[in-house]
Amino acid sequence: MPLKGKRAVITGSNSGIGLGVARELARAGADIVLNSFTDRAEDHALAADLAKEFGVSARYIRADMSNGGECRALVEQAGGCDILVNNAGIQHVAGIEEFPVEKWDAIVAINLSSAFHTTAAALPGMKAKGWGRIVNVASAHGLTASPFKSAYVAAKHGVVGLTKVTALEVAGQGITANAICPGYVLTPLVEAQIPDQMKKHNMDRETVIKNVMLERQPSRQFATVEQIGGTAVYLCSDAAAQVTGTTISVDGGWTAL
Ligand code: NAD
Repeated sequence: MPLKGKRAVITGSNSGIGLGVARELARAGADIVLNSFTDRAEDHALAADLAKEFGVSARYIRADMSNGGECRALVEQAGGCDILVNNAGIQHVAGIEEFPVEKWDAIVAINLSSAFHTTAAALPGMKAKGWGRIVNVASAHGLTASPFKSAYVAAKHGVVGLTKVTALEVAGQGITANAICPGYVLTPLVEAQIPDQMKKHNMDRETVIKNVMLERQPSRQFATVEQIGGTAVYLCSDAAAQVTGTTISVDGGWTAL
């Protein structure tokens, strides 16, 4: 149980990659704080299920990552954290001229500014303990661009920049900051797009996944939430103590092209 006794806060973790990362950190023994902007019975039940399955302590705290004050309050309500995973994120696709201003603002707030606020709130406790791990879930779009994703690409490049600055400011203090850059990951959100894409392109499931959705991913295979979670566990391990200020791509070769 390499992470026993460590408390991990994972933003945006009631589904998809965030939940996958939370599960792998719990499997490695960490106590877990789940988060999203909703406050439903099923959100709290997810935490109870994690606690039961992995024998760790787990709770769910509602906080809206588009609001800086709520980002900071999340870390405070958690009682600080040893591991901070900034994962919450949204997407909107439109050309720059048509891009709705409120969507731009929301994407920059949730995908980028939230990580600034939670990091600022988490660092004092990590410094006091002389140990901390900050894992920012960026994207292949933190390293490359696609048309029609201006806010997302700008925010994810910003996350990579913030990761580097964080690492430099705490270097030598037992705290690391790194960004995971996933390619296409099979989350419920992505799964839900498959039927529409099949209809639109008149293709079967296999063909639409390989030739349309994974066109830029040379492996032609989705990454899984377990693989992203496993990468986060590695970044939290002693083996990664000198890995800081960098990006790890989990993208089937996307950024090698
Ligand atoms: P998802 O929609 O399943 O998860 C997003 C999570 O963020 C959810 O738990 C959602 O409730 C939460 N969230 C959204 N708005 C929030 C807010 N205002 N406050 C708090 N929580 C909020 O999507 P996902 O695919 O699991 O994405 C997770 C992260 O991974 C995102 O940052 C995304 O950009 C990144 N990512 C995803 C992929 C992919 O292919 N799925 C690829 C690269 C990067």
